[in-house]
Amino acid sequence: MGKTKPHRTVERDDGTFALAREKELLRHYYEGNRLPSPTGEFLMVLRVQPEADGSGSIILECSSSSLRYRLNVNKATRTERAKVREVLEKGGEPRCPRHVNQLLIRVKNDLQCPLCGVRYAKV
Ligand SMILES: [Zn+2]
Repeated sequence: MGKTKPHRTVERDDGTFALAREKELLRHYYEGNRLPSPTGEFLMVLRVQPEADGSGSIILECSSSSLRYRLNVNKATRTERAKVREVLEKGGEPRCPRHVNQLLIRVKNDLQCPLCGVRYAKV
C-alpha cells in the first residue's frame, strides 16, 4: 500500500476507512454541501452503493490524501416509507425524504435514492 494510515481509524476489507462524526457529514451530504475530510480538505463522492438490507453506503475519496472512506447511510424509517407510499398512492413522483429535490429511481422492484442508495419503497 505505501500509504500512511490516519490515526484512530480502521481499514476495512474493501480498503475504505470509517469516518468520525458520520451524522454531521450525512447532514452536509443531504443538504448538498461539500464534505470536509479528516485532513481538512474535501471528500469527493466516488460512488453510491445500495446495501442488501436497504441501507446505503457512500464511498468517498479525500481530495488531498486519496484515502478512501465509507459513509454509512441508515435504512429508511417507518415515517419515511409512509411518506413515500403516500405520494405513490396519489400517483405522484416520490422524492427522497432526506435529499432536497431528488426524485427516487426505480431499481428492479424498489424505489431508491440515487444519492443515498437507500430503498424507500417497493413498486
Ligand atoms: Zn437520498
